[in-house]
Amino acid sequence: MKLFRGSTVCSLAMVGFCIFAAAQCLSALKEQKQGLRRFEFTEPHMGTMFKIVFYASNESSALKASRAAFNRIAGLDHIMSDYQPSSELMRLSELAGGPPTRISDDLYGVMSAAQEIAQKSDGAFDITIGPVVRLWRRARRQHELPEPARLAQALELVGHEKLRLDAKARTAQLLKPGMLLDLGGIAKGYAADETLRVLKGYGIDRALVAAGGDIAVGEPPPDMEGNGWTIAVASLDSPAQRPKRYVALHNAGISTSGDLEQHVEINGTRYSHIVDPKSGRAITGRVSVTVIAPDDTTADALATAVCVLGLERGLTVCVLGLERGLKLIQSIPETRALICQAKNSELQCSDWHFPATRDQSELLPKRRRPIRARLVLFDRS
Ligand code: ADP
Ligand code: MG
Repeated sequence: MKLFRGSTVCSLAMVGFCIFAAAQCLSALKEQKQGLRRFEFTEPHMGTMFKIVFYASNESSALKASRAAFNRIAGLDHIMSDYQPSSELMRLSELAGGPPTRISDDLYGVMSAAQEIAQKSDGAFDITIGPVVRLWRRARRQHELPEPARLAQALELVGHEKLRLDAKARTAQLLKPGMLLDLGGIAKGYAADETLRVLKGYGIDRALVAAGGDIAVGEPPPDMEGNGWTIAVASLDSPAQRPKRYVALHNAGISTSGDLEQHVEINGTRYSHIVDPKSGRAITGRVSVTVIAPDDTTADALATAVCVLGLERGLTVCVLGLERGLKLIQSIPETRALICQAKNSELQCSDWHFPATRDQSELLPKRRRPIRARLVLFDRS
């Protein structure tokens, strides 16, 4: 993974549209010289919008490659969805309490990556969280908190040590009847990585795949040689506001997790769709975690895990939670994190070697309003 400071984009933004337009012409000329054109495709999959951006020599090969890429994503959804009862994941969950079952290479790959992060995060990330997530989904629909007794019952079925994988036999075994797997915190990252791989098979390696807030990038665009894809980490307290932080990345994954898009407010408290596997509680504080890792499977899972670690000690002593989150990030090579929490209506960010294009003091102001942060692709076209 390589990180670069994308100063080009920021300085362009400051000197205005004319120079920006001129630079676009220049870069278009450069691309033409290399015989490459920029293509962009979007399709809904896995409950989000997948955006694929890449450089190819002509339209027919671009269309072919993008079709294969979206087919691959749809195939992965059919394996990993916990909404489709016929998915391989759901069929495996139905066999909970039974003997080891042989599973596909994709399911094995994503589950073994998940188990590794579960171990490293001391169970903060846990794909056996299914029974508890179900109760919180119901709570979101009905605007009513889950009953404590039912939560306690569901928690009995949670624990990454209750899921056994056998690398040689390619089998999985769920030790307790009633267990339910949920890949919602890692599947999009895996799909983004796999999409890059499919495009490579078509000779396309200058590509970016964005599955909502989960983004995988390959080689940089032709006009950004030696740099990378410019991605903005935007704070969204005011949608019109220009993003303040940009990163230029290639051959890496970048993911954001938090209570931003999916949450419910019950009795004045805001509950996220991320759950602490130890207590069964949904995250209640406003938190946003962005992680950069060598691949997006890792970034996706780590971003979810760090949200939970931040929650564990409660918001009033969030520094301890943040420390544990950063410790986890530090324990994994080539990862970076930006962790932001709203505390008493102020945003507090703690970044661990997170690359930035502007002065840090400018990037981390204290704000009065509640803050939302997310990743957006800085679209140069
Ligand atoms: P998003 O889906 O918005 O990108 P995440 O990557 O953080 O956000 O994934 C959240 C999803 O992960 C939840 O909707 C749920 O399905 C699942 N999940 C919730 N809590 C956990 C957890 N502690 N460990 C693993 N997966 C979780
Ligand atoms: Mg995730």
